[in-house]
Amino acid sequence: MHETCLDQKSTMQGTIYSPLDLGPPSHTCQYCGALFWYEERVRRDRGTSSPVYTKCYKEGSVVLPPYRPPPEPLLGLLTGVNRSLSAHFFENIRNYNSMFAFTSMGVRIIDSVNDGRGPYVFNVSGQLCHRIGSLFPREGERPEYAQLYIFDIDNEIKNRMAIGTYINRKFHPNQDIVAALIDMFNTHNPIV
Ligand SMILES: [Zn+2]
Repeated sequence: MHETCLDQKSTMQGTIYSPLDLGPPSHTCQYCGALFWYEERVRRDRGTSSPVYTKCYKEGSVVLPPYRPPPEPLLGLLTGVNRSLSAHFFENIRNYNSMFAFTSMGVRIIDSVNDGRGPYVFNVSGQLCHRIGSLFPREGERPEYAQLYIFDIDNEIKNRMAIGTYINRKFHPNQDIVAALIDMFNTHNPIV
């Protein structure tokens, strides 16, 4: 990883930017081991051989516990215990995520800024909200989002598989993964 800064010069012709390559982040915070560029040291240590960095653990005053590993089946799927199953999971991870979503996002997306030049820009107009809807599906409609957690849960696997195919017709959810994810959420997610 390299950080590139732009060195700005103003001339009669306008502003000229020349890239400044700082190389890889080769310094380590003495408290937490976070990687830093030497240039990120706090100002009072200018020119020192033992620089101090405060962007991470605030000189050791904040101690965060390390992330706990995710529960199964997620850990096994993310670490490739079964290679082909993990490959399928990674390929479809957005679809699996959508299958278990509580809400949908309510937003007016302005897509006209994406004209093919430059990276994709997510541009919204007005307020962004979550659409949660009613707790039970309306007469004749399939359960979706949060409704799937409380409505007809005897058939939750079947209902979620149906939602997966509804989200993306090319997506074929793996029933064992879906069943194991349901168990995982029921065991580990207090909101579920
Ligand atoms: Zn640190």
